[in-house]
Amino acid sequence: MYILGYDVGGTKISAVIGDEKGKILKKVYRRTTKEYGKSGITSELIEMGEELIKTSGIKEIYKIGIIFAGPVDAENGIIISSPNIIGLKNYNITKELENHFNVKVYLQNDASASTIAEKLYGSAKNLSNFVYITLSTGIGGGIFINNKLYKGAHGMAGELGHMVIMPNGPVCGCGRRGCLEAIAGGRGIARRVIENISAVKNSTIFSDMNPADIDAKKIFAAKKAGDMFAQLIVEETIYYLAVGIVNIINILDPEAIIIGGGISMEGDDLFRPLKLAVQEEMKSMKRPVKILKALKNGADLACIAITEYKEQMLQ
Ligand SMILES: [Zn+2]
Repeated sequence: MYILGYDVGGTKISAVIGDEKGKILKKVYRRTTKEYGKSGITSELIEMGEELIKTSGIKEIYKIGIIFAGPVDAENGIIISSPNIIGLKNYNITKELENHFNVKVYLQNDASASTIAEKLYGSAKNLSNFVYITLSTGIGGGIFINNKLYKGAHGMAGELGHMVIMPNGPVCGCGRRGCLEAIAGGRGIARRVIENISAVKNSTIFSDMNPADIDAKKIFAAKKAGDMFAQLIVEETIYYLAVGIVNIINILDPEAIIIGGGISMEGDDLFRPLKLAVQEEMKSMKRPVKILKALKNGADLACIAITEYKEQMLQ
């Protein structure tokens, strides 16, 4: 019994074939075209799916999951708006694929889907209350309360990156100032390096780098290589992340915070100091909240997980 999964992101689209236990058989990628429009994205997904089914040697698929980088109406299978691809506003993408493949198609926002994947396949398997945070170019997440994905009144819960941690701080993509994402997201970390580089002149390996090439990965690598400026930026990042995480802990009192996304690939270089910083930041409100690593192939599993997740099954 195989499931076809799609991850429609801002830079790439991937398609996977997997089973309901979360075993991934095969995966293909394509670069995202900004100008797809409704018919363009649909034919791209159909083509990728057909190719994948043919080359992975399976007979048929029995359901499809699509995860999308942007707000969706999961219940009705509709993309509400699309920050990365033009012309997908209020598009019922599931109907088109159902017509073609003749199976049920599920749609979910990528951060919510990754949260569900942690519950079904990851370190949250035995947890009822946890928060998933994705640290990437931006910061997003999802909240599980009493074994259920918490959606909020408008389906928009879990926008953890848009929690202000520095009033009057840098302007965020959402329009507010000093959001966690604007400071500790990948783009925010790089911006802090670029803005402060003149103050440190030639004391850093970033002085001669094209600002467009500076990213979080290079900053963590520079810190590891002993660059003092990079160390300062990383320490600052960890402090602000800890402030944000403790805000979440104080509101929701979860069993664990699970961290995924590109920046989480820094592994212990991130997790070790972050755990200490969270402990420290809890001050007199300490409690044993675990800080855990997310699934390594969370995005692949997320496409599968949303087709398997049913709210009632976990109660
Ligand atoms: Zn924001």
